[in-house]
Amino acid sequence: MQGLILIVEDETDLAATLEYNLQREGYLTRLAATGQGGVDAANQDPLPDAIVLDLMLPDLSGTEVCRRLRESERTREIPIIMCTAKGSEIDRVVGFEVGADDYVVKPFSVRELILRIRALLRRAQKTDAEPEIVRFGRLRVDREAHRAWVDDKEISLTALEFRLLYAFMSRKGRVQTRDALLSDVWGIDAEVTTRTVDTHVKRLREKLGDAGNYVETLRGVGYRFRDNPDEEAG
Ligand code: CA
Repeated sequence: MQGLILIVEDETDLAATLEYNLQREGYLTRLAATGQGGVDAANQDPLPDAIVLDLMLPDLSGTEVCRRLRESERTREIPIIMCTAKGSEIDRVVGFEVGADDYVVKPFSVRELILRIRALLRRAQKTDAEPEIVRFGRLRVDREAHRAWVDDKEISLTALEFRLLYAFMSRKGRVQTRDALLSDVWGIDAEVTTRTVDTHVKRLREKLGDAGNYVETLRGVGYRFRDNPDEEAG
């Protein structure tokens, strides 16, 4: 299966053409002819893999639909291609400001639209494989922005502390020796001793506060990041 595409378009002829061509390419489709209908259809299970969104709709504008989809956690990540009739610079800027991922200018070729959908889906799959936001109990980490939060309170980490935290979180439940951490976080040639690892882990734990006990010390071995945030300390 190639994916489910939601088409939000009030021109029935165009909607039918898009539906026909997408299905011929192996996509599943869902149609909505109004802005509100589009928002509703975007929230239905299964969630669409991408949305083709017309700018001019009878009730809500495409930009408003886009804004609402981006505000909702459920639909935030769905790639959106905006279709605009005017193709002016202003429409483009507005489209990107409200979070559209791409756009096509009417009249567009169906071929071009399909190529762009394919590109968006490829990009989205890549992000799926390695999500930017990682959550663990009270902890939330944005690996792209290098930011971390405990209970929605941002904690200020150095670049090194961030790498250390991320190394822990990406190997939950597994023992990590000081040597392994040294080569992963500091780099193999780094001129630091295993004692440095302990110092930084200690500081990281302090900064994490109540979430600091997710990092456990295994005496004589190294460290282990909990497999489950609610686990009892061992
Ligand atoms: Ca329209």
